[in-house]
Amino acid sequence: MDERLLSDNIAKLLERVRLSAEKSQRVTGDILVLAVSKNHPAEAIRTACQFGLGAFGESYLQEALTKMSQLGDLPISWHFIGPIQSNKTRAIAEHFDWVHSVDRGKIARRLSDHRPATMAPLNICLQVNISAEESKSGVSIAELPLLAREVLALPRLRLRGLMTIPAPSQDPVQQRAAFARLRLALGQIQALAPGIDTLSMGMSDDLEAAIAEGATILRVGTGIFGSRNR
Ligand SMILES: *Cc1c(COP(=O)(O)O)cnc(C)c1O
Repeated sequence: MDERLLSDNIAKLLERVRLSAEKSQRVTGDILVLAVSKNHPAEAIRTACQFGLGAFGESYLQEALTKMSQLGDLPISWHFIGPIQSNKTRAIAEHFDWVHSVDRGKIARRLSDHRPATMAPLNICLQVNISAEESKSGVSIAELPLLAREVLALPRLRLRGLMTIPAPSQDPVQQRAAFARLRLALGQIQALAPGIDTLSMGMSDDLEAAIAEGATILRVGTGIFGSRNR
């Protein structure tokens, strides 16, 4: 991707974040832009780093590992945001700083078992199925407290908060309603333990609504790197 275009996209995005934060009387520094780099090459990540981004989200393990090996010289924080199969938990636990897509106890236990003792505990967000769509992954609101307790008991994980991918909607009112449900769910699990501080919600098309409802991590792909040609 053209460097000029990438730097323009990043500048525009950061301005959107700044304006939305201001509207909601929030501090821009409390909102992390996670650049979702799936389907984009290592060189695009390197360039985005030069323009100030430091956290990158990947959905496909093999693709991510290849890029990590090419970017080992950069101080990147790596976030896994895709569906997790059991046979991928070891590599995820060994290579990532955060996992946003934990939605069952079995996966959480395996990530904890495989997290090397030499590394800091793995930061975890529980993925919540906020729109209650049958096809979507994510734990239901009803089952969330049980899963949260299970993760809190695992020694090599650090429960940080919740993540959601709501049903797509162009309506800002509906967008906000879904994000508000995640914010309320966070309040419930915050009562279980200290240090739970993260709402991973909002993507390229709905980040204003997410910021208004308290997002602390925005996951932005298209708005930074352009469309993904697969
Ligand atoms: C791809 C992806 C994103 C980024 O979506 P954009 O619409 O390109 O910003 C965010 N979150 C998850 C979980 C994704 O898989």
